[in-house]
Order: sequence, then C-alpha cells, then structure tokens
Amino acid sequence: MQQQIRLLVELSKLDSEVHEVTSEAERLPAKLAPLLKDIDKLEALLTMQRNQIAENELWVKSQEASIKEEQSSLAGAKTKLQASRNGKDYNAASREIENKRRSVGEREAELLKVFDTLEKRRADLATHDAEIAELKEQAQKDLAEIQVKVEELQKQANEKSAGREELVAKIDKSVLNRYDRVRKKHGNKAVVEALDGACMGCHVALLPQLYNELARAESIECCPRCKRIVFRPEAMALANDE
Ligand SMILES: [Zn+2]
Repeated sequence: MQQQIRLLVELSKLDSEVHEVTSEAERLPAKLAPLLKDIDKLEALLTMQRNQIAENELWVKSQEASIKEEQSSLAGAKTKLQASRNGKDYNAASREIENKRRSVGEREAELLKVFDTLEKRRADLATHDAEIAELKEQAQKDLAEIQVKVEELQKQANEKSAGREELVAKIDKSVLNRYDRVRKKHGNKAVVEALDGACMGCHVALLPQLYNELARAESIECCPRCKRIVFRPEAMALANDE
C-alpha cells in the first residue's frame, strides 16, 4: 500500500501541475481585455466625432448655397437701384441692398466660426486616429505574445500529461476510483500531506489514532473534515529507504 500511496502522491502532483499550466493558459487572453475595451471606447468617440464633422460639412454647404442666393438677389437690388426713377423706388432698393448686405455678412461670419470648429474637430480626429492605430498595433503585438505563451504552456501540459497513462496503469483500480472521486470534489488538490498531526488540506488537527495509522501507510485514508486523501511524507520516505 505504501507504493500505491506514493503513486497517488505522484499522480496528484502531476495532475495539479497540468491543471496549473492549463489554467494559466486560459487566463492569459483575459489580460488583453482592458486594452480592447480602451480601443472600443475610442472607436465610439471617433464615430461620434466623424458624425459631428459630417453634420458641420452639411451645414457649410447649405450656408454657402444661401449666401450665393442672397448675393444674386443683392445684384438684382443693385440693378433696381440704378433703374430707379423716383425717390420712393430708390429708397426701397437701397433698403433692400442694405438688408441683403447685412444678411450676407452675418452668414459669412457664422461660416467662419464653423470653419474654425471644423478645423479643430478634424485635428482632433487625426490625433485620435493616430492613437487608435497605436493601440491596435499594441493589441496585435500583445495578442501574438499571448499566443506564443499559450502554445508554450499547452506544450508543457502535453509533455506533463504524457507520463500520466503509464502512472495510472500502476495504480489499483479501487485506489484510482477513490482518487477520482475526491478529485471530482476538490479539483487538483486531492492528495495532501499530514504534518504535525494536522491535515494540510484544511489545516484541522487529525485524531491521533488516524495520524498513527498514516505513519504505517497500510491503507488509503481520508481527512474526516475535508475528505481529501492524506498521507505522511515521512512514511513515504521510509518506503524509499527499503
Ligand atoms: Zn482536511
């Protein structure tokens, strides 16, 4: 039974190493999440900015069309002024010219303001475009690094798992079943040491009778509290000396 317990300890060590490597490989891609989130946020901002610019450009076009229209009616008013034959016509035409000029002037002033805004928005957009390109490049680099690491870890896990079958073949079916049951419940920490009278799985003191039985290593014993398989390392060492 000493030999069986030793094999179980070995199997448990192997399983937990494989589990550690596998879960590290699973955790790695999540490291990229904050960067991807930043890129998403920036992209949403960029879409908003592009829409604002498109709106401004549309407004500029309609304003320019209005100015053209008013300039042509201003020309019409000037013709009327030249053709006026009495004071009444002359006054009406001058008032019209005055109004059209003011209106064109106001529209042109508004247009200049929007040109200013547009210039700033386009510069902002260019900056954010550059930022996002940089972030995306970084994300690709990170992803490539992560992929290399994950592949390396998977290789490690495969190498470690390679000897498992051979090891399992040496373990009695009933012992193995017991291990599998405990492992199902406790993951990869199914076999734990008993040190100074306590179970290292749950750190609770074992009854002296059980602790003494473990020293003999004649049976597979479980901790009454956490139900993990417990063993005493010094009992295994004795087996080594034989
Ligand atoms: Zn325990």
